[in-house]
Amino acid sequence: MTYKKKETNLTISLSDPVIGEKEKQSLCSVIDSQWITMGERVAEFERSFAAVHDAKDAVAISSCTAGLHLALIALNIGSGDEVLVPSLTFVATVNAVLYTGATPVFVDIENENTPHISLSDAQAKCTPKTKAVIVMHYGGYLVDLQKWRSFADESGIFLIEDAAHAPGIGGVGQFSDAAVFSFFTNKNMTTAEGGMVMTRDQSLLNLVRQLRSHGMTSLTLDRYRGHAYSYDVTMLGYNYRMDELRAAIGLAQLTNLQMWNRKRNKLSQVYRHILSDFIPDVTVPFDKKHKTASHLMAILLPSGSNRHEVMLQLRKTGVQCSIHYPPVHHFSYYRDKFPGVNLPITEKFCDRELSLPLHPSLTENHLEIIVESLKRAMFD
Ligand SMILES: *Cc1c(COP(=O)(O)O)cnc(C)c1O
Repeated sequence: MTYKKKETNLTISLSDPVIGEKEKQSLCSVIDSQWITMGERVAEFERSFAAVHDAKDAVAISSCTAGLHLALIALNIGSGDEVLVPSLTFVATVNAVLYTGATPVFVDIENENTPHISLSDAQAKCTPKTKAVIVMHYGGYLVDLQKWRSFADESGIFLIEDAAHAPGIGGVGQFSDAAVFSFFTNKNMTTAEGGMVMTRDQSLLNLVRQLRSHGMTSLTLDRYRGHAYSYDVTMLGYNYRMDELRAAIGLAQLTNLQMWNRKRNKLSQVYRHILSDFIPDVTVPFDKKHKTASHLMAILLPSGSNRHEVMLQLRKTGVQCSIHYPPVHHFSYYRDKFPGVNLPITEKFCDRELSLPLHPSLTENHLEIIVESLKRAMFD
């Protein structure tokens, strides 16, 4: 039996991975090699991905979520500690803090035009228990990392980047204690599931590497080759490994990352242009010159719009759209655990936000169709 992509009446999807012959060939060569678990391709993928970010090495893991968890553990964050987090993010950012036993402290965003975690609110919420801050490059738009580095140094805390939206752009991973990337299917590059931890601190990187595989002191490949016949377990580790199949897909994808990011940037600029011409009531966050990997095409509908209705109408015309994000502090689990969290700017932003399709396979013609559909959905 063969599995086919489910037929739907959607014609323009929110995000489509670009995968094809290159990835197929890479997968075949892994199968032919008969070594499918973590091995040389994973190591090569780590070095190649690091090189794109001007780093020497990185650690591939099973997901960004797992990577955030390991980065926090490696920085010795746990029970009794507080970690500053945005609420305008995917829930994984905050879940990872809870895995360690530490307490996430929600921080508002700067403003609706710069929906990054707010420095002034972070300063106000920093306590003697605060051990780290996680910043997230919303939509691919780079957070001002030097500003956050100074804040982290002044406060004596660690700076972690959730870089799930921002692979391949200069500056990511340069100033933080750790940057974590995602290769989930809808990201700028994919391994189906997977992630990467980058840090300039080699001992931290070694620690993450050991934590990734049960805290063991030697690898299966080394034992197979006779470089090691035994191992010790010197810490509580996890199985957060990446395998050779995923690494092979990652290596193939990586060769296109810069081109895809440029394509995404170009499409975002075209969107900005068409939107301001045809629907000036819609606003697009960030300055058009802001450095970005253009992961999302986030727009803000005019206040008072019926977003639900707009989304239904768009869907009817075959345009898929989404919301990034429902604020984490509003999910039932988090509401129960941390009642009374009040983040007025985040809440206002999340009420109006709508994400339009953005991926490298779109053409300018698609964007015109999408904006036209949006206009009709808003005003008809
Ligand atoms: C996708 C995403 C994650 C989680 O990535 P996984 O690889 O699926 O674990 C974390 N943070 C943000 C901001 C994301 O968009």
